[in-house]
Amino acid sequence: MSYQNTVSKEARFTGVGLHTGASVTLSVRPAPVDAGLRFVVGRPGAEPVVIDAHHANIQTTSYATSLGSGDLRLHTVEHLLAALSGLGVDNAELWLDGPEVPVMDGSARPFVEGLLQAGLVEQPKARRVIRITQPIRVADGDKWIELLPSVQPGLQVDYAIDFEHLAIGRQHFHMKVTPETFEKEIAAARTFGFAHEVARMQSAGLARGASLDNAVAVGDEGVLNPGGLRFDDEMVRHKVLDLVGDLALLGRPLWGHLIANRAGHGMHARLMEEILLRTDRWESVIDEPLEAVRLTASQRALQVCV
Ligand SMILES: [Zn+2]
Repeated sequence: MSYQNTVSKEARFTGVGLHTGASVTLSVRPAPVDAGLRFVVGRPGAEPVVIDAHHANIQTTSYATSLGSGDLRLHTVEHLLAALSGLGVDNAELWLDGPEVPVMDGSARPFVEGLLQAGLVEQPKARRVIRITQPIRVADGDKWIELLPSVQPGLQVDYAIDFEHLAIGRQHFHMKVTPETFEKEIAAARTFGFAHEVARMQSAGLARGASLDNAVAVGDEGVLNPGGLRFDDEMVRHKVLDLVGDLALLGRPLWGHLIANRAGHGMHARLMEEILLRTDRWESVIDEPLEAVRLTASQRALQVCV
């Protein structure tokens, strides 16, 4: 059986917001069992606002996932949530003094390093997970996500992207998401954007903090960053990072086999909506080996007797 986790002490991060360009400090603090992941956003001269990291609080999914409460908007939560969820942190308070999570280097690696440096601690209550028992599908033309039951515990991901650009093209990535694979294969993959889109995004109030220090920029001739890519298929790995971060908004780990084609934040949000609506297609189980999950109470009693 696996138990809930929190951070053993505060972890602090400072940087700028990718879209707002605002300077911001983030403090990740321990939280009690069943508290979940919860943002606490400070405002000058006013009480801080609490926003649970939950699907119900999603406001927009254009270029990033933004949460909200009342008139307060909190932008680009997904890379931090990916680091927390990827490492298996169930409970934490996420204090911010600005309206956007700092982008750091455009990946989840600085968060992973900071969280591991602070240390994680097991808490005295079992973790509950959402285990998919029947297929769930969301689609929009050739963009779709299918979530299938899996005989294995945990989340398997097959993610494909297809961009008509020589520097990206079609990329496919498969992995089982565990704290180890997340840290090694996914955490360092940076967000990316097309150089020709930046001016348009900035006039729409987006990407104000973007630079070659916090994003992969793709120009007509290829990748513009002097250091090149961190992985040949860094873009699709970043999509998996975004997916892990967005799925954290379910509030519990997801067990199943997820196959995504050309999806993104909007499709991730639609999938979560569908999961939370279709309660007949999954069950809430304690995180323990699958054979044990399948045994009924009477079978367990029998097993104890023999
Ligand atoms: Zn991202």
